Amino acid sequence: MGKRTYPCTPWGMPTYNTFGWQKPCYLLQDGYAETFAELLSTTEWSNYGTESGNPACANCMVHSGYEASAVNATFSSLGGFLATVKATLFTSYRDQDALDLLEEPAAPVHPLVQIAPTNEPQETRA
Ligand code: SF4
Repeated sequence: MGKRTYPCTPWGMPTYNTFGWQKPCYLLQDGYAETFAELLSTTEWSNYGTESGNPACANCMVHSGYEASAVNATFSSLGGFLATVKATLFTSYRDQDALDLLEEPAAPVHPLVQIAPTNEPQETRA
């Protein structure tokens, strides 16, 4: 709902593949580490996350960085746990702002392109 702000914690859901432990998450490729310990110690974590100012992380809300943050917020305090229980169990928990957004008309992201057979030369764009 966009009502909470969490820091990115990509080490909470790291990626391991044939090249090793990917820095800092599966979306970015800033190198690999041989071990998880090396990943933790050699990655400059403050350079990542929407709060870092790194343009590669701008507007990111991907689970690899923020799902672990939400889980940590749920289980690291009684308030976080109760907020999660409330959001999960009570159907009366409604977000009117979010419901109003659903009613707003959405502009198409891409213009509609008509494809029709023709013998005319086609304009091309670079
Ligand atoms: S903000 Fe997104 S892209 Fe940047 S490190 Fe976190 S999960 Fe990866």
